[in-house]
Amino acid sequence: AARGIEAQCRDDAPWHAPEALTTRSGQPYRVFTPFWRALRAARAEPPVTPAPRRLPGPAHPPASAALADLDLLPQPRWDRQFYADGVPGEEGALQRLAAFVDGELAGYRTQREMPAGGSSRLSPHLHFGEISARQILAALRRAQAEQRAPEDDIAAFERQLGWRDFAHYLLEHFPDTPTQPLNPAFVQFPWRAAADYAADLQAWQRGQTGIPLVDAGMRELWASGWMHNRVRMVVASFLTKHLLIPWQEGARWFWDTLVDADLANNTLGWQWVAGCGADAAPYFRVFNPVLQSQRFDPRGIYLRRWLPELARLPDRAIHAPWQAPPRQLAAAGLRLGRDYPHPIVDLAAGRQRALAAYAAMRAR
Ligand code: FAD
Repeated sequence: AARGIEAQCRDDAPWHAPEALTTRSGQPYRVFTPFWRALRAARAEPPVTPAPRRLPGPAHPPASAALADLDLLPQPRWDRQFYADGVPGEEGALQRLAAFVDGELAGYRTQREMPAGGSSRLSPHLHFGEISARQILAALRRAQAEQRAPEDDIAAFERQLGWRDFAHYLLEHFPDTPTQPLNPAFVQFPWRAAADYAADLQAWQRGQTGIPLVDAGMRELWASGWMHNRVRMVVASFLTKHLLIPWQEGARWFWDTLVDADLANNTLGWQWVAGCGADAAPYFRVFNPVLQSQRFDPRGIYLRRWLPELARLPDRAIHAPWQAPPRQLAAAGLRLGRDYPHPIVDLAAGRQRALAAYAAMRAR
C-alpha cells in the first residue's frame, strides 16, 4: 500500500466465503443438508470473468533459473501413468470439463457410484486451482439451458461440489481437524497400538490385504494417484474398522499418494468414514467390502483391471476368492497364499472387534 499498489481479494476457490454461513444460533454448521440449503439460498453465482488478454510483466525481470534447472520431475519417472488420466494445467482442466459435460454428466447420478463408471475426474484440477467451482457451474448452467443432460444428473453433481464447499468450510471453522477428531469423544478411542498394526498397515498400503475391492483401490491409488470415491470410502472403512488402525494413518497415506490430495476434502472424507467427523456415518455402520464389491462392480470390471492375478476367476467368485471352491481356484490358475494373499482379517471378527472398541469408548 505504501508503494501505491492496491491488492484485492476475491472468494473464488469455494462458491461461498466459508465464514459467511452460520446456523440461526450463530454457530458453524456441522450437518451437510442444512449447510447445503443455506449455501444454495445465499449463493449468488457471480458471472465468470474472462482471463485478462495480457498480463504485462515487469519491465526489467529479475535474473532467474530456467524451469528445467529446478529438476522438478521425479527420477525414475514413476509419474508416467498419471498422464494417462489427465493433462495438468488450465487447458487440461477445461478440456476435461468439456468432455465431462458432453459425456459422463448424463448418467452421473448412477455412474458415480460405480468404480468402473464415470465421474468428472476434475478433483486434481480443482485442488490446484486450474479451474474454479464457478467455471464448472457456468458450464452446468449452459448444459441445463441447452438440455444436454438430465436435471437429476446436474443436481447430483452440484451436490458433490457442495460437499467440497462444506469440507473447506469445516476446515476454516475447525482448523485442528486434519489431526484431531471433530467429535472429542474419539480422542479416547481404543485404536490398536502402532507396533501391533505395522504389518497390516503395510499390507493395506500395498494392496495386499486379500480383500479384492480394497486391494484394487489401493493399487489404483499407487499407480495413478487417484481412486474412485466409493472405493475411497471402502478402503478407509476397512482400515479404521476391520483393522482398527487410526484414521490419521490412512489420511497421511492418501496425502502422500493422491494427485488430488486436498487438506479439506481428505480430512472430511477420513473423519466421515471413521465416524468422528461432521455429519459422519455412525461408527457402527461398517462397510462390508465384499457386498460393496458385488453391488457396485458386479461383473468385476474394476477388480480385473487392478488385480490381474484374479482376472480368470468367474464373476461370482472374484469378490471373495477365499470362499471359492478349490476346483474353481485351480481352473483360474490361482494359488491363494502364493499368487494372492489370504484375507489378513476375518471380516466378521474384524467387524465385531470394531463394534466392541466403539462400545468401550462410549463406556468411558
Ligand atoms: P466427482 O464425483 O466428479 O465430483 C466433482 C467434484 O466435487 C470433485 O472433484 C471434488 O472436488 C468434489 N467432491 C466430490 N465428492 C466429494 C466429497 N465426498 N467430499 C468433498 N468434495 C467432493 N477429494 C479430494 O479432492 N481430495 C482428497 O484428498 C480427498 N480425500 C478423500 C478421502 C476419503 C477417505 C474420502 C472418502 C473421500 C475423499 N475425497 C477427496 C472426496 C472424493 O472421493 C473425491 O473428491 C472424488 O473421488 C474426486 O473424483 P471426481 O473429481 O471424479 O469427483
